[in-house]
Amino acid sequence: MPTFANSERIFQTAMQLLPGGVNSPVRAWGAVGLSPRVIARGEGARLYDVDGNSYLDYVGSWGPLILGHAHPRVVAAVQEAAARGTSFGAPTPGEVELAQVLLGAVPGLEMVRLVSSGTEACMSALRLARGATGRGRVIKFDGCYHGHADSFLVAAGSGVLTHAIPGSPGVPPEIAELTLSLPYNDLDAVARALKTYSGEVAAIFVEPVAGNMGVVPPKPGFLEGLRRLCDQEGVILVFDEVITGFRVAWGGAQSLYGIKPDLTCLGKIIGGGLPVGAYGGKRELMARMAPSGPVYQAGTLSGNPVAVAAGLATLETLVEPDSYDELEEKGAWLARELAAAAARQGAGVTINRVGSMLTVFCTKAPVTNLEEAKGSDLRQFQTFFQGMLAEGVYLPCSQFEAWFVSTAHRQEDLEYTVAAAERVWSRMAGK
Ligand SMILES: *Cc1c(COP(=O)(O)O)cnc(C)c1O
Repeated sequence: MPTFANSERIFQTAMQLLPGGVNSPVRAWGAVGLSPRVIARGEGARLYDVDGNSYLDYVGSWGPLILGHAHPRVVAAVQEAAARGTSFGAPTPGEVELAQVLLGAVPGLEMVRLVSSGTEACMSALRLARGATGRGRVIKFDGCYHGHADSFLVAAGSGVLTHAIPGSPGVPPEIAELTLSLPYNDLDAVARALKTYSGEVAAIFVEPVAGNMGVVPPKPGFLEGLRRLCDQEGVILVFDEVITGFRVAWGGAQSLYGIKPDLTCLGKIIGGGLPVGAYGGKRELMARMAPSGPVYQAGTLSGNPVAVAAGLATLETLVEPDSYDELEEKGAWLARELAAAAARQGAGVTINRVGSMLTVFCTKAPVTNLEEAKGSDLRQFQTFFQGMLAEGVYLPCSQFEAWFVSTAHRQEDLEYTVAAAERVWSRMAGK
């Protein structure tokens, strides 16, 4: 029998020292009725806990690890960069190289600013949008997550959703009031809001493929409609591609769907597992950022040379021919075979997928927005999660998160996963 004694002991201590035992709420396993495994190391598609148990990992650090854990090229780049010094507070060649790669890949980027997290990227993009338009209101969508800045903690996704926190104490109502959260994929609601608040909306923030209420793709016409409405009303369209950038395509969701936003937020993959975020867009907008313009934003460790080296090594490896074809094939195979296994065992599931990100919702009904995602049977999800964990498959510990397939997942890993899911569904059906 596997033992989890070391995980239990360390997490008990963590509970005394860190709120909830974690440094980010999504890592707590309350929603699946367990205490989390404490991780010792990762290699390729596998994680190893402090008791020596190993798992096939579909969390991938919540998105960044598109090459899997401890990819040799990324590790070497980090070691080499660290040996040259970890931070200078001065311009470095790596940040210029990374900016060139980002601008070459993402259609909406003409200029970019590096920061240290997706949260920072989104809050800075919002400040820029407000600074550029002189307007205060922002529109977002229910179940989308744009980091933990005050303005975005209104009907947010990710851990806010998993732990059923509606807004957050500490966000003044005067600030929350400026944020309008609307149903995802509902263009009419956006048109109505823009009419009601004509001339007051600075920006629309959207995850072009939602990943923080589980994976929810945009309906045909949704992103196009947002682009058109923003153009009509002088509103800045911000694609939060912190998950989707370099995930659903080399150029992100904007290249996949052919829609150019005014500003783009990036994070996760562009840091290759180290802290990097970025926001960028049209040159005339970005030129408003200090020191070339008056909108202020800064960071001691922004463009950090070690983090940038990890990001560059990741992107340089990804750009090799066929990475995205391979990720698409693996994602498609996994989603198709999981659906077939669920059907054989009579498990009612809906699988949403774009490229190598997918969610298995425990509901038969289609999921196109937060309300529908919430129609999932969370007790069933908990049983499924626990069953998969016992089979050695490490899934996101929430119904409302994405599974990520990496280039390190081999066909036999995917086959094992489908077989494990079929065993779990079979047991759930009492067969
Ligand atoms: C993860 C995420 C963020 C926040 O990024 P952090 O690096 O966790 O601050 C913002 N937007 C989206 C879409 C995300 O998935």
